[in-house]
Amino acid sequence: MSEATPNKPLRAILVGPPGAGKGTQAAAIVEASGAIHLSTGDMLRAAIKAGSELGKKADPFMTKGGLVPDDLVIALVVERLAQCATGFLLDGFPRTAPQAEALDEALKGAGVSLVVVLLLQVPDDEVVERLTGRRTDPVTGTIYHLIFRPPPPEIVDRLTQRSDDTEAKARARLDKYHSETAPVIPHYETRGLLRRINGVGSLDEVRARVLAVLP
Ligand code: AMP
Repeated sequence: MSEATPNKPLRAILVGPPGAGKGTQAAAIVEASGAIHLSTGDMLRAAIKAGSELGKKADPFMTKGGLVPDDLVIALVVERLAQCATGFLLDGFPRTAPQAEALDEALKGAGVSLVVVLLLQVPDDEVVERLTGRRTDPVTGTIYHLIFRPPPPEIVDRLTQRSDDTEAKARARLDKYHSETAPVIPHYETRGLLRRINGVGSLDEVRARVLAVLP
């Protein structure tokens, strides 16, 4: 039976290694569901760009490819969750056990529960290849890949690379994913919320798999 109806907002988590395609697939999910996309990585990058206190604190951790301290990220998410009456799609949160516990508390306090947790699976070697070839168009926000999703030649010169998408930092982020984030997954599996999705394939193929498991 469908759980996400117009009266029942989608409240979901999108989890997976860096470079699994979470940001790209999140766009399809929010379009299909009306949920609000909450990407902690995007929020933190915006804070850095704005030069806020949070941005100044987060910057050194992100630059190294490490994780931003839990208390900072938790405060950021909890504040935004309260504004998501039409549902939410968390992308890049929770990334640690304390973050998962804080999310449980916040949802319990609000009297709501998660509908689904989507795990986008991509092997490590492919993740590194995807991250190091990733480029962003600062004008449209479109994310390209030099090999897998080549940009139009006329915009190549203006593309930017995320400072944490070098090979060494990509590997550091992947290590963090395995040591800190992957252990959180059973927390949702035991509650019957987890759906595993093969993240290897074309964008359209993966999108179809993602949309097929949405409630
Ligand atoms: P992302 O865009 O999701 O790949 O996140 C980019 C970077 O932001 C990560 O490598 C971390 O440094 C930081 N970050 C994003 N989300 C979190 C989180 N939930 N906990 C800690 N750090 C985070």
